[in-house]
This record gives sequence, C-alpha cells and structure tokens, in this order.
Amino acid sequence: MTPLQPIVAIDGPAGSGKSTVAKAVAKKLGLFYIDTGAMYRALALKARQENIDPNDTPAVVALAKAIDLTMSYDRHTGALRILLDGRDVSEDIRRPEITEHVSTIAKNEDVRHRMVELQRQFAAGKSAILEGRDIATVVFPDAYKKFFLDAQSEERVKRRYLEMKEKNIAVPENHIRRDIQNRDHIDSTRACAPLKKAPDAVYIDTTHMTIDEVIAAVIAEIQR
Ligand code: C5P
Repeated sequence: MTPLQPIVAIDGPAGSGKSTVAKAVAKKLGLFYIDTGAMYRALALKARQENIDPNDTPAVVALAKAIDLTMSYDRHTGALRILLDGRDVSEDIRRPEITEHVSTIAKNEDVRHRMVELQRQFAAGKSAILEGRDIATVVFPDAYKKFFLDAQSEERVKRRYLEMKEKNIAVPENHIRRDIQNRDHIDSTRACAPLKKAPDAVYIDTTHMTIDEVIAAVIAEIQR
C-alpha cells in the first residue's frame, strides 16, 4: 500500500465555496495553497492573448506544453499570485471572457495531463491543500483528507454574483447562471477526469451553512 500524501484535496462545482474555504484552512493550518482552477484559467488567458480558438485542440495542447506558469503563495498573508510568462495575471484570469472558455480548454486530455504534472510539481515536498475538480480522483488519489463541497445551484449563482460585484466586475445575474450551468455540464460530463466525488471524500452541502461553519467542519475533519 502506498503511504498517504500530506495533501488535503477539495473538489466541487463553481460557487460551492472551495476557494474561500481552502484559503482559510491553509492559513489556519499553515498549509501551502494551490488553486488548480487558476491554472486552467491562465491557459485560457494565454490562448486568448495568442488569438487561439479554445476549440483548436492541437494549438491549445501546444500552448499547454510550453506554458510558463508559476504560483507564488505567501503563507503569512494568504495571498496567492498566478504568474504567466512572469507577469501577475491573478486578476485578469477572473474576467468573464476567460471564465466563458475555460471549461472548453480544460476538457482535453493532453491539456489535463500537463496541468496535473505541474500541480504535482507545485505540491512536491509540501503539506498542501489543493482545490479543483479532480484533485481527490486524479491529482492526489492518495491525499490523506478529501472533501467534496457542493451547494444548490441558485445559491452558487448568488455567491458568484456577489463575489463579482465585490471585485467591481459587472456581470448580470442571468449571465452568471448560464455560465455556471454551462461549466457544470461540461466539467461533469467530459470523458477525461470529470467532476465527481471520490468515494472516500467527505461530502459537505454548504447551501445553508455560513463560510465559517464550513471552515470549522473541514478543520474538525482534518484534525479528527
Ligand atoms: O475553480 P474555477 O472555477 O476557477 O475553475 C475554472 C475551470 O477550470 C472549471 O470550470 C473547470 O473547467 C476547470 N478546472 C478543471 N479541473 C480542475 C480545476 C478547474 O477542469 N482541477
């Protein structure tokens, strides 16, 4: 039997609270934090910068193989910066036009292969918390704690709407609803590494929970 890795894996759909919870838990427990969605987003941004159609699979795969992507995480402040070609793109990757195409890009097997390789490199030798769609199922199936966060879709739409508003990005609620439905569909039906709960992951429905309650539940489970 392979030993368990010092990794906490959090998966779940958009708006389930993964990022907020993972960041807070990382800070409280002194873990390194890796946002894997940010990596797919950085690739989608790079494709856009290079005028590559998200459906042009060979071009997107070539881009993924050559991508210059790094993450800098400050354990003290909890700030995570995503660097693409050495430039901080942490804000740019959240733009609606990137969100719109990211799931199309993330469908491809070769793209995922490259991203998983980078994710494992970033986490190598660290106690880390990773969040995404396939962390517990593919990236670290031997993680010592696995969670699947979920929430009813209207609650997720509401959360994402408020989050964008806070960032001063104006997106109508119906656009957010459409985006979430679209990404949920693509992410959970793709052939390669679809979004799904690992059999041994702890399932948390966050619909009626405050963020502090979710953080407390995750920490209690990790320390159990
Ligand atoms: O987590 P976030 O919403 O930023 O992720 C953006 C997109 O990246 C997801 O909708 C999904 O298509 C893709 N993704 C993925 N696998 C991951 C993380 C994100 O396919 N581990």
